[in-house]
Amino acid sequence: MSERINVNGVIGPPDRASISPLDRGFLYGDGVYETLRTYGGRPFLLREHIDRLRRSAERLDIPYDRAPVDIGTEILRTLADTGEAEAAVRVVLTRGPGPIGYDPEPCGPPTVVIYARPCPEIPDSWLREGVDVAIVDVTRNAPGALDPAIKSSNLLNNFLAWREARRLGAYEPILLNASGRLAEGATSNVFVVRKDRLSTPALEEGLLEGITRGAVLALARRDGIETAEEALGPDDLRQADEAFLTGTLKGVLPVRRCDGWPIRHGRPGAITLRILGLFRALAQAEAKAGSAPGSILR
Ligand code: PMP
Repeated sequence: MSERINVNGVIGPPDRASISPLDRGFLYGDGVYETLRTYGGRPFLLREHIDRLRRSAERLDIPYDRAPVDIGTEILRTLADTGEAEAAVRVVLTRGPGPIGYDPEPCGPPTVVIYARPCPEIPDSWLREGVDVAIVDVTRNAPGALDPAIKSSNLLNNFLAWREARRLGAYEPILLNASGRLAEGATSNVFVVRKDRLSTPALEEGLLEGITRGAVLALARRDGIETAEEALGPDDLRQADEAFLTGTLKGVLPVRRCDGWPIRHGRPGAITLRILGLFRALAQAEAKAGSAPGSILR
């Protein structure tokens, strides 16, 4: 399959794509983004991703409605051009080009970049055995700084956490908030199971409201699993009966070890496997033509 990049409505191969070096997204990370994927050629939970992109832009006063193209239409057009059933799509919306200096007035219009590529595959062994995580020293941005609820292009803090995890031999870092409680992974949300109860850090802990997180909570509740969004400490993860990560490109990914120690038996547990099955079924149902994108969750 061919990779395609769409810049303000012009689709081409990646080596043809260009934006201005004076674009605020490039200069300051002054932009927002989404990662979505397709199952069977259909964008999964597209409406949710577009809504979150708009909310992120609004929080930063990036004028979503002044974008030079309709973002939903351009996502579909770019996907059609790639012709791939399982694609990953990154959508970036920046404040656009402008003179050096923080004043946003002379900037714009916003820049829209859509990058479609083959969806990176999750090895079966990761699903069977789980992945390793490490609680890292890099803390999640405080909501009073650049709020983690905004999916901004300013990702250096996440990169620092990821780098620390790799140095520790772990696949994904788990970041704590400034109060030392669990927040989320660098590119994922985290769930724990304790005594048959499924918990994930509450939004007030300072984290991205993951779309996969929302889908998993809805599926679990509908299936009669007790769920909670609450404050959790590092030991709630280290001593959990089960744990897993969620994210658009990861789906539901069991956690095998935290900080080098096995989570309980070091194998994906019963509730994790149940959630994995429910999530797969949702993705398959959404992939079938005829159901409106995102309809199953509403
Ligand atoms: N937290 C962070 C910091 C992320 O980057 C991601 C990936 N987008 C997630 C959580 C998971 O969110 P989603 O399920 O919407 O992909």
